Amino acid sequence: MAKYVYDFTEGNRNLKDLLGGKGANLAEMTNLGLPVPPGFTITTDACRHYLAEGSLPDGLEQEVAGHLAALESTMGRKLGQADDPLLVSVRSGAKFSMPGMMETVLNIGLNDESVHGLAKQAGGNDRFAWDSYRRLIQMFGKTVLGIDGDLFEGALDRLKGRRQDTDLDAGELQQLVEAYKGIVREQTGADFPADPREQMRLAVMAVFDSWNAPRAILYRRQERIPADLGTAVNIMAMVFGNYGDDSGTGVAFTRDPGSGQQGIYGDYLQNAQGEDVVAGIRNTIPLQDLERIDPSSYRELLAIMETLENHYRDLCDIEFTIERGKLWMLQTRVGKRTAAAAFCIATQLVDQGLITMDEAVTRVTGDQLAQLMFPRFDGGAEKKKIAKGMNASPGAAVGKAVFSSERAVELAEQGEDVILVRRETNPDDLAGMIAARGILTSRGGKTSHAAVVARGMGKTCVCGAEELEVLPAERRFIAPGGVEVSEGDVISIDGRTGEVFLGEVPVVPSVVVEYFEGAAEPADDLVKAVDRIMRHADGARRLGVRANADTPDDAARARRFGAQGIGLCRTEHMFLGERRQLVEDLVLATTDEERQAALDALEPLQKSDFIGIFQAMDGVPVTIRLIDPPLHEFLPDLVELSIKAATQEATDKDRRLLSAVKRLHEQNPMLGLRGVRLGLVIPGLFAMQVKAIAQAAAEVPGARPEIMIPLVAAVQELESVREEAVKILAETGVEALIGTMIEVPRAALTAGRIAEAAEFFSFGTNDLTQMAWGFSRDDVESSFFHRYLDLGIFGVSPFESIDREGVGRLIEIAVAEGRAARPDLHLGICGEHGGDPDSVHFCHDAGLDYVSCSPFRIPVARLEAGRAALAENESDTR
Ligand code: ADP
Ligand code: MG
Ligand code: MG
Repeated sequence: MAKYVYDFTEGNRNLKDLLGGKGANLAEMTNLGLPVPPGFTITTDACRHYLAEGSLPDGLEQEVAGHLAALESTMGRKLGQADDPLLVSVRSGAKFSMPGMMETVLNIGLNDESVHGLAKQAGGNDRFAWDSYRRLIQMFGKTVLGIDGDLFEGALDRLKGRRQDTDLDAGELQQLVEAYKGIVREQTGADFPADPREQMRLAVMAVFDSWNAPRAILYRRQERIPADLGTAVNIMAMVFGNYGDDSGTGVAFTRDPGSGQQGIYGDYLQNAQGEDVVAGIRNTIPLQDLERIDPSSYRELLAIMETLENHYRDLCDIEFTIERGKLWMLQTRVGKRTAAAAFCIATQLVDQGLITMDEAVTRVTGDQLAQLMFPRFDGGAEKKKIAKGMNASPGAAVGKAVFSSERAVELAEQGEDVILVRRETNPDDLAGMIAARGILTSRGGKTSHAAVVARGMGKTCVCGAEELEVLPAERRFIAPGGVEVSEGDVISIDGRTGEVFLGEVPVVPSVVVEYFEGAAEPADDLVKAVDRIMRHADGARRLGVRANADTPDDAARARRFGAQGIGLCRTEHMFLGERRQLVEDLVLATTDEERQAALDALEPLQKSDFIGIFQAMDGVPVTIRLIDPPLHEFLPDLVELSIKAATQEATDKDRRLLSAVKRLHEQNPMLGLRGVRLGLVIPGLFAMQVKAIAQAAAEVPGARPEIMIPLVAAVQELESVREEAVKILAETGVEALIGTMIEVPRAALTAGRIAEAAEFFSFGTNDLTQMAWGFSRDDVESSFFHRYLDLGIFGVSPFESIDREGVGRLIEIAVAEGRAARPDLHLGICGEHGGDPDSVHFCHDAGLDYVSCSPFRIPVARLEAGRAALAENESDTR
């Protein structure tokens, strides 16, 4: 029979798929002998079954009952027992942490009788018992019964007025419980369920259901977490941080998740339970102050943090509660961190002897490296600082202040940069956080919801800027000195320093970019760490990395960033600007002579373009793609021309152009007269380009041109272009490889034949994706991709990450058949995907020789290529 429930003593940290991250790590801590309240985990299998079938799997309830009985006997009290109740929490916990996205219910087991038993258990502490009870109804009401949380918040606010929640006495809390029960009755038409087992059963199902809550779906999409994993449920005995001032609850990191520095780092709140710390209901105190309040728990906590860090060999974050002087561990996991901290921590752990350099490379990601390449504020610029909060997530963000998630989304959709300003954020703000350039809050510490989520997303965040009075209803905030910022006013926030500025502050490039540019020596710790990791990744990778670069400037930058060549030099921009005139002449030519004259005029211009690029690339290969887009892209707009042609000033040329534009107009230009088809239809066009390449190469010593033909679908197309090119090369005595793009599905499927005429293939995955799916790239992303993402047809746009199943399959076929026909066939990719981490791993797995991407993505591709190679070694040894 399937096993759906694991006691904490049965699991371990490797069982995340089954037990979720929280459950697996609770088991790990239990088995390390750390003080974890006892409990058990219902598996993700059970959740998947429930979500698919709409009912709990057979046998689950009996299994849970068995584990509950064992827990009751360990604890010596029964769930909800009237005179001496056991209380439990029911906690969600998926494989990947989704902070605050799903549900947790505390204090299950309380009702009108057991609340008195709890008070008795607590030595007559009535206040504590009623506080726990009102928390149960509030959390249960919101998460299990789906009641608007504001109704409970409102009742609480009315009762406490200007006081804090801790100022309410037992009588008032009892009154609040009655009010809450009234809300439940009014909203659901039924009484709050008094039966403890019923409470537990409903809470378990609510946790399962929360997997598909809209905000969880949104978060998964953003973080690229698969939609079908499901969540586990953890049921654990309650411990209480809300007994009084000798109790409390806190969160901590084993080192600074912002910089990686070792030290004491966390927040603590006395007389509080559960989410109070992250929710920012009262201001927390720094963890260091616990040393004064409860020295023995503090020392124990530090020792446990060290144990955990050595055990996990990484930064961990933890949640703990102190109940009347006794420390309990409630959660740990390998903690989220900023990009800079990830690099610093990885190399520090190497220096501490905890991990190897190979592991260090796998501990950082290309996305993190990309974040470090964002600009920061110009230190020399004049700026008006209006407040300072905590530096919760780095980066420099400038935008219009907005005060609600909805408004952030609205303005972002109109192309505005916005900063989301809130008192504190909660999971309902997620959409706005995604839409915003940065997030600013006036409350909450570095472990608040805003901070944790922003760091996870790599979004700039300043939190806990307490000097700001944020008035969301009035869409404005007030800074010290009476400075007012209303919706739409521009502010700048610095996630590295926590500073908030009025107006737009200019930004400057990052030190990491300066380091790649060769302008910064490894002086600061971050640059040193990046340097070590990049060197190691370069030593490990098998894939070459080339750049997509069309100008000498781009080519030179690409070289500095470590490009080993140019994988895609587009030639079309060389026909823009003043040269449009010549393209017009080419199109309007009615005789061979006229056409040749236009081409002859273009040739020297093209040649000088190539000389610049060959010089910048200084002896490394340069793959030049012959002209690709349809010619009408170079001609004036049809509507403008039509209007002009109807006027008196229209010249004869205008009228001829108009008829040419009409003649060249296509219903589906992406599938029309472009790429190799142009070369076959317009005599002399490709020959002119090949000549320009050959002559330029002849003038630049060491130049290594590769000539690439776009949009080939059949070997015959390639053969006829090739023949002409070979002749021209022979005449000039220049050597160049001749190859093709593989970007039409037919080319991939006939790659064996095409390889007979090609010395290299470069996969043009933008077109290949477009044609494999039948998606018009420029149209589909805005029109129906959201729906496709919602439906889970894909987890991420296939234009962003290679669709392994379909497009990837075409590539694999082409690789296998191409290599079979020509063993030394050189293989690369030059679509946008070349700089996407996931796609780089695919290219490694598919056995390509190189990836080519935009200059700024080159370091990312180098790092990911190294990680792909190391991941492969790792699986070899397993
Ligand atoms: P999340 O995944 O959103 O952090 P958790 O399941 O960790 O949700 O629970 C929320 C809060 O409740 C945490 O601060 C946790 O420490 C606290 N909590 C959970 N279970 C218990 C328990 N058995 N006793 C005391 N506090 C608990
Ligand atoms: Mg938690
Ligand atoms: Mg293309």
